[in-house]
Amino acid sequence: MSRIGPVCRPAKRKGVRERHEVALRMKDLFDPFEATSDLPSISYGAMRELIMIRVKSSRLKVLQDEERHLTVETAHGLIGLRPGRNTEAAGYVGAVDEHWLFVLKNEVTQLMQRVMPEVAAEMRWSNGPKAGSLPPNFDFVTVREVTELGPNFLRVTLQGEDLSRHQDGSIHFRLVQPPAGGAPHWPTVAANGAVAWPEGDGAPHRPVYTARRIDHRTNTLIMDVYLHDGGRTSEWARGHLGTVGQRRVVGVLGPTGGGLLDADRVLMASDETGFPAAARLLESLPDTVTGELFLEAENGADCAYPISVPSGLKLTWLARASGDDLGRATLQALPHHTGSKIWFAGERAQAKTLREALKAAGRDAGDLRISGFWAKPAEGH
Ligand SMILES: Cc1cc2nc3c(=O)[nH]c(=O)nc-3n(C[C@H](O)[C@H](O)[C@H](O)COP(=O)(O)OP(=O)(O)OC[C@H]3O[C@@H](n4cnc5c(N)ncnc54)[C@H](O)[C@@H]3O)c2cc1C
Repeated sequence: MSRIGPVCRPAKRKGVRERHEVALRMKDLFDPFEATSDLPSISYGAMRELIMIRVKSSRLKVLQDEERHLTVETAHGLIGLRPGRNTEAAGYVGAVDEHWLFVLKNEVTQLMQRVMPEVAAEMRWSNGPKAGSLPPNFDFVTVREVTELGPNFLRVTLQGEDLSRHQDGSIHFRLVQPPAGGAPHWPTVAANGAVAWPEGDGAPHRPVYTARRIDHRTNTLIMDVYLHDGGRTSEWARGHLGTVGQRRVVGVLGPTGGGLLDADRVLMASDETGFPAAARLLESLPDTVTGELFLEAENGADCAYPISVPSGLKLTWLARASGDDLGRATLQALPHHTGSKIWFAGERAQAKTLREALKAAGRDAGDLRISGFWAKPAEGH
């Protein structure tokens, strides 16, 4: 495996994008961590077309596209194509460290899994962790403390051994909870480089949460759990309330997903599941930021979630109990926010409607971060 030289090592504490930029600047001098995997039964041209669809929809930057070498910049590193050893095309990934290299391998393999599962099954990355080992982005953590945060949230402090991977460039993670009773089963690395999740009775629950705060000195990560009906994580967190110091092991897989916002004009909208992310994003925006923020909770501001809002943002609390609707309010506000960055975290169907409206309005995809943070059960379930 080729690696970035020691010059890049001190950059470890920076955000992913920053670290990645460092790697790109250094690319002429040092190679990033890299890996390839032959892609059987598919031509270079067909693979290039597949990647270019992604390049267009996500507005990714093509760094190289010549003589069977395609290199594309993503938020987590480089992806692309190279000539294969035994095949016409090989998948390529390059990253600033082994963690992000693994994340990219997993992403590329899962992308292939969706479009050509037979190719994905045959993929074998160079320089991979051993099949069957724990994923390199997985950590065991223990619950150090659980406290109430207003009437609708529990604040959970997790303790790890080394949480230095969790930085500002990617602020979410999967909380891996094995079922109660029986020996816990944890995720492993599959032979094709993807994360393999245990199935059946021992399958862990693994919803995505936000690292509200991380203390790298003490290796603690704070997450805020919204308490909703039927939530397995709500029950899990409630079960730990008042049991300070009890050392029950769960796992954290990540970080994953988007990072902080870089913007001076914003339209932000969130329900409770996005409050921890919104709070963290707001803290990092410049004091001079302007725009609008919608926060929706069952009874509006009564949820008492601590969130500090820059003075240039107009905050509107929405109350579901009074018939307010986050998706509707955001759609109505759109015409007043041309040229702003738009961040939305809510129910999946609301996010889909908003995404379609923004696409129809021709909004620049690079200004949009629209996510479904949870999903209502499908009709009849
Ligand atoms: C990037 C990202 C970051 C997130 N960060 C956070 C966070 O920091 N804090 C947080 O609390 N959540 C967060 N979420 C949302 C969280 O992952 C979901 O709410 C998830 O379903 C919670 O799992 P659970 O174990 O509580 O519920 P499950 O046991 O998986 O689901 C049980 C039922 O609860 C329903 N349900 C799930 N969410 C809600 C809700 N908000 N309101 C009503 N019903 C619901 C489901 O439809 C399902 O029927 C985040 C999601 C994403 C994608």
